[in-house]
Amino acid sequence: MNSSMSTARLTINLQALASNWRALDAKTGVETGAVVKADAYGLGAGPVSDTLAEEGVRKFFVAAAEEGAAVREAVGPGPMIGIFSGHMEGDTDLLRAHDLTPLINSAEQFQRHLQALPDHAFGIQLDSGMNRLGLEPADWAELRPKAEALNPVVVMSHLACSDEPDHPMNQQQLKTFREMTDGVTAPRSLAATGGTFLGPEFHFDFCRPGIGLYGGLPFAGAKPVVTVDLPVIQVRQLDVGETVGYGNSWVARRPSRIATVAAGYADGLHRAIGGGIDTFAGNQPCPVVGRISMDLITVDVTDLPNDPERLRILNGHQTVDDLAEAAGTIGYEILTSMGNRYSRGYVE
Ligand SMILES: *Cc1c(COP(=O)(O)O)cnc(C)c1O
Repeated sequence: MNSSMSTARLTINLQALASNWRALDAKTGVETGAVVKADAYGLGAGPVSDTLAEEGVRKFFVAAAEEGAAVREAVGPGPMIGIFSGHMEGDTDLLRAHDLTPLINSAEQFQRHLQALPDHAFGIQLDSGMNRLGLEPADWAELRPKAEALNPVVVMSHLACSDEPDHPMNQQQLKTFREMTDGVTAPRSLAATGGTFLGPEFHFDFCRPGIGLYGGLPFAGAKPVVTVDLPVIQVRQLDVGETVGYGNSWVARRPSRIATVAAGYADGLHRAIGGGIDTFAGNQPCPVVGRISMDLITVDVTDLPNDPERLRILNGHQTVDDLAEAAGTIGYEILTSMGNRYSRGYVE
């Protein structure tokens, strides 16, 4: 792990992660799995999965078979690792070697699975209205007898609008999912983080949150999991009227001290964030001024008594969702675009 002073540092609090999983688990009377796709939303699939497995998670989910291999290495034999993309051409060896469970999306995938891995566990993914992944009602009706006879380990679907509790789509998808699955013997799953908060009729046999584990909305009570510290490269003095950064977008209205920190939009701190956010020296907020550039951010530290060595941009005061709001996006995108230049540290 690179812990050089000169790189931005991303610190992942594994206790907060475990606590968020327990809190989500306590919201329902059913089992709670964990979605760890995209390298656990950018936080490291290995340490995240390992921590959650120790907490008791028995069902993990990733987007692609390649991601599943890393999760299997972290959690060892036993827990189910579901693959949302199903059984794609070329996946067979990975599925077999790492005991991954494809979530079948089409009749074609079902055929492929039966031919390539006839005795290997699989699940079924249904489209209940999102029109993204899964078997449509007519295809499912045709496949159902054959699939059910082979004991799928889960029959699942995904909600399109679960972050808006009053959206009529939630009830509509619930109805469709029920119509498609009532009477199946396999365990059923519909809810991700959002669905966990929609009430027990959405919980079925297990929930499978992602973003809420990592401290993001729509889990409003989540503990912050990630902190990001940016090293200060230099601090300079500006006179009234001097400008900062590309486009001269910030003008000093008082004699100012400006710190330049080592991170930028190439590190997931989107250029669209613009002004309106702070960095923190301890509890003292210091506003970001001027445009965010590829590798650098400029900060007004005039009100600090001393030049800081580093400034924190993500913490319990300013969350992933605050940065997302400033950038006009969602917490998911902020987390997953924090690239490889950060050194990553884990607090247990
Ligand atoms: C990403 C994903 C999840 C997790 O969603 P969150 O909103 O992060 O909780 C669950 N199920 C499926 C099918 C997904 O693609």
